[in-house]
Amino acid sequence: MTINYSEKIPNNVDLSGDRRLQRALENWQPKFLDWWKELGPDQSSELDVYLRTAVSVEKQGWAHFDYVKMPEYRWGIFLTPSDPNRKIDFGMHKGQPVWQEVPGEYRSELRRLIVTQGDTEPASVEQQRQLGKTCPSLYDLRNLFQVNVEEGRHLWAMVYLLQAYFGRDGREEAESLLERHSGDLNKPRILGAFNEKTSDWLSFFMFTYFTDRDGKFQLASLSESAFDPLSRSCRFMLTEEAHHMFVGESGVGRVIQRTCELMNEYKTYDVREYGGIDLPTLQKYLNFHFSVSTDLFGQEISTNAATYYNTSLKGRLDEAKIKDDHLLHDASYPVFEVREENIAKNESPALNAINERLRDDYIADCDLGIRRWNKIIENSGHDFRFHPEGSIISEEEWEKRCNEWLPSESDQSFVQSLMKPVTEPGKIAGWIAPPKGRINRQSFEFEYVRFN
Ligand code: FE
Repeated sequence: MTINYSEKIPNNVDLSGDRRLQRALENWQPKFLDWWKELGPDQSSELDVYLRTAVSVEKQGWAHFDYVKMPEYRWGIFLTPSDPNRKIDFGMHKGQPVWQEVPGEYRSELRRLIVTQGDTEPASVEQQRQLGKTCPSLYDLRNLFQVNVEEGRHLWAMVYLLQAYFGRDGREEAESLLERHSGDLNKPRILGAFNEKTSDWLSFFMFTYFTDRDGKFQLASLSESAFDPLSRSCRFMLTEEAHHMFVGESGVGRVIQRTCELMNEYKTYDVREYGGIDLPTLQKYLNFHFSVSTDLFGQEISTNAATYYNTSLKGRLDEAKIKDDHLLHDASYPVFEVREENIAKNESPALNAINERLRDDYIADCDLGIRRWNKIIENSGHDFRFHPEGSIISEEEWEKRCNEWLPSESDQSFVQSLMKPVTEPGKIAGWIAPPKGRINRQSFEFEYVRFN
């Protein structure tokens, strides 16, 4: 099904066939636009940005490129086409047909899952709203805005589910998604990592690598859900999320590349005076973003996660490919536990360890890119490895040494001092190497953003 762009809200869910839902969404749309203008990318509404817009959900059609003013971006509702034969792969409803409506007994759990996912989407836009002013190049500026509009669309995806399937509660939740704000003392976003600041581009690249990857894993496990509209929404969101992680991986890689070039040129590790970000500082930024992102997976042992799995609401990564009974009543899974003196692996009931398993899958996925980053360092003739020791330390020692592991205030203000905007086509800031890839076959010199 192609997307109908003549409608106010582009969609492939036959919105015009459901007047009540259409009215509810048309009512929410101006509130979303107000939110975008107030808390979306600052001072960006007049810019012409070379953006990708989904024009159909088919493989060839969802990436259409053109200049767009962001408030005019066609945010819409796109679900991966339904598979009429889809069956539930796990939990107590395994083998039954998937659900097209929300079963009454799972209503509040499903709503909670959707609201928690939905809350992260506008949060990241809010976190990144000042970055446009210090972009290292037009290419990067365009990528930032692409990520922002798509996170906005992910909010639409979750709001559609709330409005279409959860009645009045759903409409109220949709409003609340625009009322909580990242870092707000009274009404913060639900999850910790989404209340942190993303105040410089190094943090942005780390965020899109590590935190958007958490998004990938959450969406992947929600796409296993027995509630089919949720599954289909998440499947389409995953196609967009992949670009966000590419921005992160290539962004960090280009910073490392530049750092190595400066190390070789000036024969020193201490590249700060030459306008580069030294490897120990990069490591500290990585430690921070990796840690807050792994926290997003929740408690190692979780009865909520067990319930979600057992009731077929949220599965594991690639559920159908896992070779076990998909019920997990008798299975165990190794989980790290803090003992008196040390941290040790302990076999725990697999149902309660669903979060931990997803976190382990996530860590393995993170590791792939980190290996490629290490390769950049190796290829430039250096051997730089960092080994966190993994031992228990006292609060006191932590206070004393935390600046060895996490960015200190002076590290952050150094990185901040490098953040000067470069907006001439083909030019780039001194702390990052130009990209190797292209956007829609356009070269780095292309005018990705037009200032009017
Ligand atoms: Fe997203």
